[in-house]
Amino acid sequence: MAKYTGAVCRLCRRENTKLFLKGDRCYSDKCAYDRKSYPPGQHGQRRTKVTDYALQLREKQKVKRIYGLTESQFHLTFKHAERQKGITGTNLLVLLERRLDNVVFRLGFANSRSQARQMVNHGHITINGRKVDIPSALVSMGDVVSVREKSRKMAVIIDSMEAVARRGLPQWLDLEKEKFSGVVKSYPVREDLTMPMQEQLVVELYSK
Ligand code: SF4
Repeated sequence: MAKYTGAVCRLCRRENTKLFLKGDRCYSDKCAYDRKSYPPGQHGQRRTKVTDYALQLREKQKVKRIYGLTESQFHLTFKHAERQKGITGTNLLVLLERRLDNVVFRLGFANSRSQARQMVNHGHITINGRKVDIPSALVSMGDVVSVREKSRKMAVIIDSMEAVARRGLPQWLDLEKEKFSGVVKSYPVREDLTMPMQEQLVVELYSK
């Protein structure tokens, strides 16, 4: 399926939760979900019967939208998770967290994952001193993720780094703010992921 290019706040209203897709705006009183917390569209406020399939589908859509992946990218990540040892649902979330665009967002170099993806695409990010412009690249333990020297004066990055204190830094990452770099101390565990996600429903959906 093609990339979604419509209004992202509709996605939060569709999934009935805040997905935090718009950076600072999500924490302000301009948040569309806070103002209209019902699904978008003409029939948004209509009561409908929720089937098991609908629950599973909505959960998959929610996780996919939080990380900003297309259906095929998400399905490939799921297949990768399935091939790994352990619990597939947890593996899936850990793989999503290890994506470079997510790590850039988590470290506070960008205000949202879509902004982080753009920064990676534009070559502003390095891993262990080498430029990496692939947002789906997976970080490994011990990797040092940095903003390139020549990009450190960009207002968008400096502003974003102010916001990281409000979002909080996950335990599995270490940030050296003055050096514009962060270290992957360990892989995330399920408890590190605080967004409301029921990954077992995604596994059930894809296991049909
Ligand atoms: Fe979602 Fe609110 Fe952020 Fe819009 S502003 S993306 S509705 S959390």
